[in-house]
Amino acid sequence: MSKPVVAIVGRPNVGKSTLFNALAGENISIIKDTPGVTRDRIYADVTWLDHAFTLIDTGGIEPDSSDIILSQMREQAQIAIDTADVIIFLVDVRQGLQDADSKVADMLRRSHKPVILVVNKVDSFQKFMADVYEFYNLGIGDPVPVSASSRLGIGDMLDEVVKHFPEKAEAQDEDDRPKVAIVGKPNVGKSSIVNKLSGNNRVIVSDIAGTTRDAIDTDIRWNGKEYIFIDTAGLRRKNKIKEELERYSIIRTVTAVERADVVVVVIDAKEGVTEQDAKIAGIAHERGKGIIIAVNKWDAIEKNDKTIYEFTRKVRETLSFMPYAEILFISAVSGQRLPKLFETIDMVIENQTLRVQTGVLNEIVTEAVAMQQPPSDKGKRLKIFYVTQVAVKPPTFVIFVNDKELMHFSYVRYLENKIRESFGFKGTSLKFIIRERK
Ligand code: GDP
Ligand code: GDP
Repeated sequence: MSKPVVAIVGRPNVGKSTLFNALAGENISIIKDTPGVTRDRIYADVTWLDHAFTLIDTGGIEPDSSDIILSQMREQAQIAIDTADVIIFLVDVRQGLQDADSKVADMLRRSHKPVILVVNKVDSFQKFMADVYEFYNLGIGDPVPVSASSRLGIGDMLDEVVKHFPEKAEAQDEDDRPKVAIVGKPNVGKSSIVNKLSGNNRVIVSDIAGTTRDAIDTDIRWNGKEYIFIDTAGLRRKNKIKEELERYSIIRTVTAVERADVVVVVIDAKEGVTEQDAKIAGIAHERGKGIIIAVNKWDAIEKNDKTIYEFTRKVRETLSFMPYAEILFISAVSGQRLPKLFETIDMVIENQTLRVQTGVLNEIVTEAVAMQQPPSDKGKRLKIFYVTQVAVKPPTFVIFVNDKELMHFSYVRYLENKIRESFGFKGTSLKFIIRERK
């Protein structure tokens, strides 16, 4: 089931980053071996009561002349409208109602998306409450007063936000067609791949200015089976500064990956694998999705008998945090190995939903433990009581031990490798939860 997406929109300095950090708190996922994706805090996983959602900050606008601010805010708002299930529209009680607020409010209202009007910097209800009422003029409902910096009113605000999430039962996807997200840097060939697969031009490939659509879904049939392809190509404005473009491309990637079962990370063979590819791949990895690395434009490079091995080595090195991912060398232009892409998607989905019986699993783990002693500290040795698989997508295992502190990352890796040797799980990450049992 994909998590709802919540976006924060607002003028510079109203407190978007402060609110984002207050909400993300410790939930912000910083995974050490995933390069720089989350450190810049563009998105975070948040839980409130029994609701989990992905928070995105569309921000990144530098205060400048007011007409530039407005046009950038409109773009921000458009990104939010395209990608979010609920929008938090943040205003500042101290600056009061501004012209840009009203204009953006009009735009948000027309989108018919749920918008929560949040008035920030209400550090004292007594002192500022009278000023909050002014924001009724925006015509987007009751203003919710908060103070992001002193974390006041945050709970009430979140209650409002989660009210607009789809019902859990509804959100449970009845559609069992595999969902495949095609992600990658601009110009690696994402749209070309989807076009070639679908055999028609349903996806816009050209550089049409003002294309702000987010992911475009395409229904593709192969071997009598239907797949939904989520293409993240689209917004490609030449006038954008690089950082902004990258921010938006990350937001689009996160929201597309969120909805997908399998993520195809497209790399440009002509450019080689880069850090930016690693960032994008890291998003899918963190979310535990099935992953296929597709090196596209394979037709366009000079090859000898070593090229494929050399390229594979470089990909493995740059994407070392996901050794489980399959690598395919394809061409959207010639269609080379595109059938193989479908076979691989099927295999990855199978592995994402594979369940291993506890008995067999524990035989493997017992054997692994016998072969390599668990770590010990100050005379106390780690004991593994048993292991059981508790979930799929991604396959998730709970390891019951005598003392959590004794479990090293490297030993988990060792056990993971043993489990993979026996059961494969190609193309999917595995998740391990360590629990103590006295
Ligand atoms: P952004 O540009 O919208 O991301 O705004 P920031 O989060 O960077 O905040 C802008 C300024 O407002 C910073 O100086 C914050 O410390 C301040 N600020 C944020 N939230 C509050 C609040 O609840 N109360 C007060 N008094 N100041 C706040
Ligand atoms: P996107 O931004 O990732 O969607 O990339 P596009 O699909 O728009 O492709 C960007 C450019 O790369 C276009 O000029 C395509 O014609 C070209 N391209 C895409 N796939 C291939 C391929 O397999 N081989 C070659 N030679 N060019 C390709």
